[in-house]
Amino acid sequence: MTTPSFNLFQFKPIGIIHSPYKQKFAIPRQPRLVKQIEGLLALTDEFSIEGILAGIENYSHLWITFIFHQTLSQGWSAKVRPPRLGGNDKMGVFATRSTFRPNPIGLSAVENLGHYQHEGKYFIRLGGIDLLDQTPIVDIKPYIPYCDAIPDAQAGIAQTQPSSNMPVSWSPQAIAFCKQNIHSYPNLQTIVSDILQQDPRPAYKKKNILPQNYSVYLYDLNIHWTIENQQTLVTHINKK
Ligand code: SAM
Repeated sequence: MTTPSFNLFQFKPIGIIHSPYKQKFAIPRQPRLVKQIEGLLALTDEFSIEGILAGIENYSHLWITFIFHQTLSQGWSAKVRPPRLGGNDKMGVFATRSTFRPNPIGLSAVENLGHYQHEGKYFIRLGGIDLLDQTPIVDIKPYIPYCDAIPDAQAGIAQTQPSSNMPVSWSPQAIAFCKQNIHSYPNLQTIVSDILQQDPRPAYKKKNILPQNYSVYLYDLNIHWTIENQQTLVTHINKK
């Protein structure tokens, strides 16, 4: 059998996402795990065309296809280590949702929170995203339950949602910050708790019993927390 020759396909982004997630660390591993997080998909000037989004408001959810732009330069691997396997065992890349793929394309079903036009540009508000800020978007399609939802599908190592049962408590300073800034960041305490309940640490750090300090950029904030004895404490939050 001869191998067919293919053309190279070139895609240009149709948009870019403005996301509260400013670092890869602590982004949930799939969409809708942190439901209150919201991103804004801005169509590029080239695709901000009258009528291009007409009818999209009739779909509650959308498939977003995007480029894993931040890990592009690291290439890909035929076998990868899914976090679900504790970071030790390997699986074939096509049996996983790893970012290190031959074609670094991501696919997420997210909530459609509405679209609008501003100064000639088109925007869609998206709920529950798992995308890094500035991710290039290559396509948008409606999510269609009758053919896209398969409730009795087998899902290998990912049959159930990853556990999100890390207890999260808050210091008085961190609670006060949320209260003082409620108008700028209305759901901050819920969002941060939802992210940290999933324990974003890499698998090899989860065995560590000594206290560990972490921080991550979210919106224009720096969120700091400590983990000790499998308990998370949000210690403080400050503006960048
Ligand atoms: N739902 C998508 C899928 O299945 O194709 C993405 C799954 S992937 C496991 C999700 C992770 O991709 C996030 O936790 C984040 O660390 C990473 N990520 C998100 N946006 C990215 C980007 N633009 N470049 C590289 N990695 C990204």
